[in-house]
Amino acid sequence: MIPRNKTRSYFTRPLDLLKKLHLSAEQMSFSEKAVASFSFKVPVAYVDKIQKAKPDDPLLQQIFPVQQETQLTSGYISDPLDEANSTCQPGLLQKYQGRALLLVTSNCAINCRYCFRRTYPYEEKGYNWSQIEENIQRIEKDKSINEIILSGGDPLSLSNEQLSQIITRLNTISHLKRLRIHSRIPVVEPQRINNGLIDTLELSQLQIIMVLHVNHAQEIGADSQQSLLKLYQKKIILLNQSVLLKGVNNNVDSLIALSEALIDNQIIPYYLHLLDKVQGSAHFFISDVAAIELYQQLRKKLPGYMLPRLVREIPGEASKTSIHTA
Ligand SMILES: *Cc1c(COP(=O)(O)O)cnc(C)c1O
Ligand code: SF4
Repeated sequence: MIPRNKTRSYFTRPLDLLKKLHLSAEQMSFSEKAVASFSFKVPVAYVDKIQKAKPDDPLLQQIFPVQQETQLTSGYISDPLDEANSTCQPGLLQKYQGRALLLVTSNCAINCRYCFRRTYPYEEKGYNWSQIEENIQRIEKDKSINEIILSGGDPLSLSNEQLSQIITRLNTISHLKRLRIHSRIPVVEPQRINNGLIDTLELSQLQIIMVLHVNHAQEIGADSQQSLLKLYQKKIILLNQSVLLKGVNNNVDSLIALSEALIDNQIIPYYLHLLDKVQGSAHFFISDVAAIELYQQLRKKLPGYMLPRLVREIPGEASKTSIHTA
């Protein structure tokens, strides 16, 4: 049994999860080898949203290690965004004008099987607290930067103390205006949005923008709604990015339901990303043609503010690249 610690508990053994969901390893094409290359971790709060005895549940699909992950597919590589070459120094990515992305942790609350950082050699890159401080010093010297993006991993997997250290340090840099936090935690592990975290975020003198990562309406339960409301009440701008994933959200009804659920929770759909071709993710791939066709239908059915931008990331470009759909 996994410990039912109320605030922080995770499933870390796939077979425990299958037992709970009344599924067999064969039904799910379970692969131990896939776990060996990218570990299995899912918060209990997320598991509670997965339907029982339903192998094709869209949440289960995102987190379950399957045999297809272990097949090498040509065109799929370990660092599809060429982040190794966009790194000015370990843990600091500066690809786009005015913005610097600071990697503050390699931890996530959940391990998504399609994650483009699943093979990212965090340890080798060796960022740690002195590295973070070194990176902040670099940001301090570069007056062209007005926005810091905390990323990882998931920045909200840091402790409140660690976060407050970063936030108060960033407060001292006068050319910064905005603090962006990329996080999946408010939705997948909503208990983490506790009062201590809210107090910590309130320390920020920069405007906070939180870019969430929700791929399916079913991910937003009542617990997530409460946490999102807490953030909204603190005047944090809430945006969402999703990844278009085969077997998860690659149909019009699902994408419409997602946009509706986001707006219901004061979250603006921001990006719909095409999959980054990281090794082990090929079974989630949707072709450009299929993506564009889906998007055209979506555009006919949704008001403009509910329509995310369809994008992909191409290494070396000055921004995310819009997919032309007209
Ligand atoms: C995606 C990304 C950003 C943010 O891009 P926006 O288009 O402003 O959301 C910034 N830096 C890096 C390295 C990124 O990958
Ligand atoms: S939460 Fe984000 S960074 Fe973490 S595994 Fe999922 S997609 Fe990757």
